[in-house]
Amino acid sequence: MNFDNLGLIPSLLKAVKEKGYQEPSPIQEKAIPLILKGRDILASAQTGTGKTAGFTLPLLQRLSSNRSNGKRNIRALILTPTRELAAQIYDNVLEYSKHLNLRSTVIFGGVNQRPQVATLRQGVDVLIATPGRLLDLVNQKVLFLSNVNILVLDEADRMLDMGFKRDLDKIMSIIPRQRQNLLFSATFSKEIKVLAKQILNNPEIVEATPENTTVEAIVQKAYRVDKNKKASLIIKLILEGGWFQVLVFTRTKHGANNLCKKMIKSNIKAAAIHGNKSQSARTKALSGFKSGAVEVLVATDIAPRGLDIPLLPHVINFELPNIPEDYVHRIGRTGRAGAKGEALSLVSVEEKNYLRDIEKLIGNRIQITTVEGFEPDPNYVPAEKTQRSRIKHRSRNPNKGFPRRGSRR
Ligand code: AMP
Repeated sequence: MNFDNLGLIPSLLKAVKEKGYQEPSPIQEKAIPLILKGRDILASAQTGTGKTAGFTLPLLQRLSSNRSNGKRNIRALILTPTRELAAQIYDNVLEYSKHLNLRSTVIFGGVNQRPQVATLRQGVDVLIATPGRLLDLVNQKVLFLSNVNILVLDEADRMLDMGFKRDLDKIMSIIPRQRQNLLFSATFSKEIKVLAKQILNNPEIVEATPENTTVEAIVQKAYRVDKNKKASLIIKLILEGGWFQVLVFTRTKHGANNLCKKMIKSNIKAAAIHGNKSQSARTKALSGFKSGAVEVLVATDIAPRGLDIPLLPHVINFELPNIPEDYVHRIGRTGRAGAKGEALSLVSVEEKNYLRDIEKLIGNRIQITTVEGFEPDPNYVPAEKTQRSRIKHRSRNPNKGFPRRGSRR
């Protein structure tokens, strides 16, 4: 399949060509013609599938063909759970729309609203926003949504996980009922199905899993280690392996900060990224990581979801997530774009059950060994409380979008 056969106009094809894309990804191939026809879409697609271009290209085309000559109004609203994802989509929108007469902007919290308001006042066609700041500006009457005719919810599952349901309901009650809706979600949980029913009108269902080769290219390993030795082990592995461009996940913000401090003490250029960091600190950490000035980015699950960091050789789970699907999202940051990646998990005895749940979800066993000098203390007994306090989670969409690899060990 070729981009020329999707029904896109020359200005968009030119922008795509300038990005260097050879052919559309499976989700682009499926979604672009449907969106051009005006259909509602329910798409299961993770980051790395090309989903952003999949909705942005046809959305821009629809807006450019209906352009009124008067004042610019927000006609497309793209909602995302995090500021980083909003900024990333905005960059994509700018690139794809550079040969069109369309204006766009992005708004999110954590930064001064004044420049955002000034841009909005000049008039924009496409607005990318996080729900909180959007509603803030709507309430202040500096932002009007009465002309929205295309709505995109990106990473809708994460929006629900982050507690944005009420904000979403409010936004739905403000925007016109007559509109095209595009809902993207990595998983199809019960809650997502309810949301889809509420928002979408006779949707086409589009599914796209990350390319097999991408997932196949991820080598998954785990080390058994006591939790009080994890920091020394990770530092040893990074220093001895000469690793850089390492993304490390911790379960808490406090844990991310602590680990980051220890790494810096050991002369590793590390930065932490999580919800408690100011927007400028997050942007700085991320751009430092992309440029190579930061070698190790220590992150919590919420912060980096959807981040487009190409060619990441190492993802390390300093702690396993208690929601198995988060493991899939985390390791999806490595082995992208055909690059070979390694996902390593440090597993303490307290996390045994999390590992089991993850293996159940991915339908495969993860090879687990120990590192000499870091073997777990055989006499250590985890507090009963820790065992009992294991969070019972909902299993969202087991196995979906995650190909089985090899046979069970
Ligand atoms: P996304 O899943 O939208 O986050 O996109 C992941 C990455 O794939 C981004 O770096 C895009 O620029 C890139 N990408 C999107 N579409 C294509 C394509 N058709 N060919 C090659 N790369 C693409």
